[in-house]
Amino acid sequence: MINSTPSNSGSTRKTPPTIIVIFGASGDLTARKLAPAIFNLSKDGLLPQRCFLIGYGRSVISNGEFKNDIKKALDLHSRRKIEDSSWNALEKNIFFHAGAYDDIGRFSALKEKISKIEEQMECKAQCLFYVSTPPGVFMPILENLGESGLAKRHKGTETASKVIIEKPFGRDLSTAHELNLVINRRFDESQVFRIDHYLGKETVQSLLVQRFANSIFEPVWNRNYVSSVQITVSEDLGVGSRGGYYDRSGALRDMIQNHVMQLLALTAMEPPSSLDPESIRDEKVKALKALKPLVIEGYNPEVIRASYAAGLVDGLPAKAYLKEDGIPPDSVTETYAALKLYLDNWRWKGVPFYLRSGKRLAMKASEIVVQFTRPPAILFGQDSRFKVSPNLLVIRIQPNEGITMFLNSKTPGLETKLQPIKLAFGYETTFGSNTPEAYERLILDALNGDGTLFIRGDEAETSWGLLSPVLECWESKGKDGLDSYASGTWGPLAADKLLLNSGHEWITGKTYE
Ligand code: NDP
Repeated sequence: MINSTPSNSGSTRKTPPTIIVIFGASGDLTARKLAPAIFNLSKDGLLPQRCFLIGYGRSVISNGEFKNDIKKALDLHSRRKIEDSSWNALEKNIFFHAGAYDDIGRFSALKEKISKIEEQMECKAQCLFYVSTPPGVFMPILENLGESGLAKRHKGTETASKVIIEKPFGRDLSTAHELNLVINRRFDESQVFRIDHYLGKETVQSLLVQRFANSIFEPVWNRNYVSSVQITVSEDLGVGSRGGYYDRSGALRDMIQNHVMQLLALTAMEPPSSLDPESIRDEKVKALKALKPLVIEGYNPEVIRASYAAGLVDGLPAKAYLKEDGIPPDSVTETYAALKLYLDNWRWKGVPFYLRSGKRLAMKASEIVVQFTRPPAILFGQDSRFKVSPNLLVIRIQPNEGITMFLNSKTPGLETKLQPIKLAFGYETTFGSNTPEAYERLILDALNGDGTLFIRGDEAETSWGLLSPVLECWESKGKDGLDSYASGTWGPLAADKLLLNSGHEWITGKTYE
């Protein structure tokens, strides 16, 4: 059985015997993230005693070849070493099932294979279907899971099937809606787990704890004390070998619609009435619904798109987006997007939320920065010797997950001088390295039927509802309004102006030593 190691972490939840089926199992995500996550859960004793893994794909490979691929992936990517004894126990329960994603016959054969495993186990097992293929085949997989009866196995019992669906969830509002229609026809929402791996990261999970388990933040978490919120998800890399995929997507679809909007929802939401997944997701949806639609007619300087030009990255020349492999020379896909948004609700009225994401930026970083209002200029504000900086709360998701507060303090000495100082908490410094990866937490939650850290259907559609008109407008405008920035910088000047016009500046990437 996959679970071979006694639990060290003491899971309190009892997961029924399980068969995990990964669609697209010969792919990059399975090798880098899913197989290592399953192995590490098993090593921690968090998988049920009886657990099997079936890879599904069009590749015609034998069970032995698949096992070898998984072993290689674990050697390369697992955060912990795999010893021979654990592997010998694991590999007995790993299989490959070859088939096309639109071949109902192969899904029926998969169903038979699953029944045989159950017979061998002499008990019923829950199936977790992980859809890890490119999005073009999500629909046929979901339809065939329904058609073959796999979706409805053991319906209404604790061994009911579950399905994890990778991102991107649709490419605009209408495709996300179509996908939801298929899902709703084939599954109950309680069986469905739309993944955004950002939600499995420690800092993101702990955002609710910071906000609602500390009395110092919630009283000031509103328009009276917060002057702006900014969210940055930046990458230093270019499109690399994924140019073909990326050019059909762009920064707004690839990053902002999912990761950035999720961070916004968690930052802006009202306190949920309980930790029940639906209470939390209801509040996130309410926050997203409160976002004011963006003005897209004409030129709006608060909706920015750009693509990277040549530049220097780490001192080395980096080529322009249009010169990357697989990118058409007339591409108008944005590699950078920045937006200024407002929530039309009591808590946030008038507080700008600045969002930005891009490739080939100055560094890889994901941060939420809450900037507080300045204190009244009574004691320190009136004298030019005293520079009162705004208080900042910086929640860093990557790299080095942690939280930093910037306060004003007096510098040592006889003269009274002010300087911003940091109160810093780093996850690794406090809790040590080797914390579970996001995919471990998310796969475990899905196995246990806990949807808190997954995106609900209406959540995905609400986010698309805001951004789809922007995408349509950009498509209709073509090159018109597409800005550019040198690789290795923080994006186009227009994005700096976006904040400067309101007396703010981007914080991520600036040091406060
Ligand atoms: P891959 O491109 O590696 O594809 C996974 C597998 O799907 C392939 O091995 C192949 O298996 C099958 N496949 C590939 N192209 C097609 C196609 N055109 N039609 C049908 N089947 C195809 O994807 P990844 O593993 O990188 O990603 C899987 C999913 O996870 C995607 O939706 C992606 O957006 C998402 N994701 C990936 C991340 C990553 O870091 N890789 C990060 C976050 C999300 P076979 O030929 O055997 O059928």
